[in-house]
This record gives sequence, structure tokens and C-alpha cells, in this order.
Amino acid sequence: MKSIWNKDGKLPGRNHLPGDLDTEVAVIGAGLAGILTAFYLAREGKEVVVLEASSTGSGQTCGTTAKITSQHGLIYHRLLGDRGSDAMKLYGESNQKAIREYGRLVKDRSIGCHFEKRPAFLYTMEQQNTVHLEAIAARQAGLPALEVIETELPFSVKRALRFEDQASFHPLKFLEAISLSLTIFEHTPAMAVKGHKITTPYGKVTAKHIVFACHYPFPLVPGYYFARMYQERSYVLALSGAPRLEGMYLGVDPDGLSLRRAGQSLLLGGQSHRTGVQKNRPYRALASSAHKLFPQAKIWQKWSAQDCITLDSVPYIGRFSRRNRDWYVATGFGKWGMTLSMVSAHLLTDLICKRTSPYEALYSPLRFPALSAVPRLAGHMTRSAAGLIKGLAPGVMRCPHMGCKLSWNAAEATWDCPCHGSRFDSSGKLMTGPSQTSCRCHKLIP
Ligand SMILES: Cc1cc2nc3c(=O)[nH]c(=O)nc-3n(C[C@H](O)[C@H](O)[C@H](O)COP(=O)(O)OP(=O)(O)OC[C@H]3O[C@@H](n4cnc5c(N)ncnc54)[C@H](O)[C@@H]3O)c2cc1C
Repeated sequence: MKSIWNKDGKLPGRNHLPGDLDTEVAVIGAGLAGILTAFYLAREGKEVVVLEASSTGSGQTCGTTAKITSQHGLIYHRLLGDRGSDAMKLYGESNQKAIREYGRLVKDRSIGCHFEKRPAFLYTMEQQNTVHLEAIAARQAGLPALEVIETELPFSVKRALRFEDQASFHPLKFLEAISLSLTIFEHTPAMAVKGHKITTPYGKVTAKHIVFACHYPFPLVPGYYFARMYQERSYVLALSGAPRLEGMYLGVDPDGLSLRRAGQSLLLGGQSHRTGVQKNRPYRALASSAHKLFPQAKIWQKWSAQDCITLDSVPYIGRFSRRNRDWYVATGFGKWGMTLSMVSAHLLTDLICKRTSPYEALYSPLRFPALSAVPRLAGHMTRSAAGLIKGLAPGVMRCPHMGCKLSWNAAEATWDCPCHGSRFDSSGKLMTGPSQTSCRCHKLIP
């Protein structure tokens, strides 16, 4: 199902790779992370090509709610405990810089993408203390954070945390503007990467530097991203006739809602779950919240998307592995890829241009995860092992990525992998990686 951004954000199509090609940098993936990275590298004078399996902005970027904010759930209190005050401050600083950089780009280039400054709120009906602790940590990190109890929401909250000067935009209109001058080859999937060579159906690309911005990096080795990342899916409704909200909201209680105005519509999101794990009628549950909160409103669009979740909630941005010094990655944005794509673009540009970055260690994919990540690691391993074992049974639908048993997602009519989040349509055609191939559909839809 298409998002509201697809309605009026139509990017011009690009041709596929014409044949073998040599370049300085090859970026795999033309989502927000890949395009921003290519944009800043090109601005440094680097020769860059982008390889896109489908079309520009057609991945998770077109399913986002596009809040540009440094308020990433309850990240600051967690970071303070896991990595200490300096790391927490760097996280806040890098994301605040990203917001400012969006503002600057949009202004300097007169990009018509409905960029708007607005506050962001976390709210709770039950976890006053949790939000209070987050507020203390966020202020310590230097963020413009204020605790409030009054909001414009149509229900009362126990506590909310307001961040000033955050923003929102139309992600595809923005992408269109900044991708115009870039060399992008669409419908050109990277099928294999070896050293400095990328194999595609239309020829080989040889690049000094290779950036994996393909959402979930597909090589199993090196990097072992399959062991340290899973995907989570969330659902969004676009409502017409709802009151106009100035702020952007996220509930931190279980099944908390995300709210944000987009033009005349209100976007209502929620019902998150690990991809491939059944969730009972997520659209119906979300619609019931919509009717309760905004009885006068009408649902005019619905869609879902997913994002990669790392074990310690900090993305993997930087060198892909110890073994391959010229491979880079930007992934694991935990549903905060608007600012984090901008952070990735600057950090990877610094690394490729051989400059130091104050954020390298914080986001390094080579870091050891914090101790608090151990339960998540255990949960991920257990689920993956279960999926792999079930995949051994005869006659089941199996994911080509690693062989896990796929599960049927009735809300979307797709086959989803509970291990790493690959998705296939009802005929087995690949929709989302890390799998790079479609799966053989040898079983009828349940
Ligand atoms: C419901 C929902 C709401 C969200 N709302 C917000 C929000 O309000 N604010 C926020 O900051 N973040 C939000 N996010 C997160 C954000 O949308 C993502 O983090 C971000 O869009 C990821 O961008 P990306 O470029 O990494 O991935 P993508 O947009 O998926 O781009 C990756 C591209 O790589 C291509 N690709 C894959 N494999 C290959 C290959 N082998 N060869 C070539 N190309 C390949 C794909 O086709 C795709 O186009 C939300 C996420 C969800 C699920």
C-alpha cells in the first residue's frame, strides 16, 4: 500500500547501468541515507554513482512519517546508562546538527518540500517517572527539552517532554530536489560485492569506496549484521477532518501512538511489531484508536513500513567491518532515519575524505554492544534459531536469505521473515531485503 508521499512526490525515472563502469565511490541504495551520502560526497568533488535495485525513494523512505527530530523515543536516558554522558551528548549534538543542516539546505536551494519547524513531544499516560528521567538526561545532553503536562492532544497526558525547534517535511519532494544532479542507476540491484567490485545484472561497477545504504546490508560475512539487527514494522493511517496539530507526538507507553500533521491530513501511526511475528489486525486496531480520538475524521490512506533495530538502539554508521577498510555502512536507524541519514551522510563523507569525525566512535559498527544489549541479543538469537529450525521442515515457505520459515502477514498479504525482516508478495516476489532474491512459492496462501 502506498503512502501519502507517493501521491504528489513523483521522482523522474532513471535508466539502469549501461555496462561496466569505474568510479571513485559507489553507493548501494537510493533511499534517504544513500542519496544524502552521495549528495555530500559529490559536493566534495568525489565521483559518485548510486545503484538502486528499484527506484529512488521507493524503499522505507516513502513509508516514513518524516519527523525530523533529535527526540528518538527514550534514547538519552538509555545512552547515559549504557555509554555515558559524553556519548549521550554526541548523539544529541549530531542529531541537532542534522536538523539545522536540513533547514540550511532547504533554504539555500529553495527546496519546496513543506519543511516546517515545529516542536516534538513524547507523552505518557502511565510512565511519569520514565519521561521525567528522559527529560533530565536530554537536558544534560544539551537538548532544548521541557517537561509539560498540557498538550493540544484530544486526551489528557500525565507528562510530556517537549523538544523545541524540530521539523517535518515531505521526504520524496526533498529527495527529488537533492538527487537531481546525481548519477543514479535504477533497477540495478547489487547482487554481490567482492573487494572493490559490485556485480549487477547489467555489468560490474569497480569503486575505490563502497557504501552500503541499502537499508539492511545483505552480505552475511564480513560484518555479521544478521546477528545484530532485526526489523520492526509499524502502521500508519492518514486522516482527513481531524483537528490541526502543531506539534509532533509519540506515546512511550505500550501501543503508544505517533501523531503528526501533514498538510490537511493527520498521520496516526502505531501497532509496531517485529517483522514476521503475527500482530492481530493492526490496521483495525489503529482505526479503532482513530475513531475514538477523532470521531469526526475519515481514514483516506493507510500503509506500513519497517526499519532496522540494533541491539543497543544506536545505528551502525561507519566502516562496514575490520576486514574491508573501503566498505562503509549506514543502517539500524530504529525508525529515526530522517536525522540519522543526515548524520550518516556527514560521517561517511568525513571518513571517505580521510577527515576525522567526533561521531565516529559513537556510531561505529565495529563497537562492542553495551551490556544492556545482552537481553536483546539473546531474544534475537532465540527467534532467529527458531525460524531457522522451523525452516528445515519440508514444504514450508523459506526465506532465501538464510532459510528461516516465512510467516503469512494477513494485514499486508505478504510473506515475512521473522529472523531478519525480508518480505515477499503473495507470489514470492522480493519486496524488502536483506534477501536479494525472490522465493519459490510452493505453498498456497493460508
Ligand atoms: C512507520 C515508520 C515511520 C517512520 N517515521 C519516521 C519519522 O517520523 N522520522 C524519522 O526520522 N524516521 C522515521 N522512520 C524511519 C525512516 O523512515 C527510515 O529510517 C529511513 O527511511 C531509512 O532510509 P534508508 O535510506 O536507510 O532506507 P530505504 O529508504 O529503504 O532505502 C534503501 C534503498 O536500497 C535499495 N536496495 C536494497 N537492496 C539493494 C541492492 N542490493 N542493490 C541496490 N539497491 C538496493 C532499496 O530498494 C531502497 O530503495 C519511520 C519508519 C517507519 C517504519
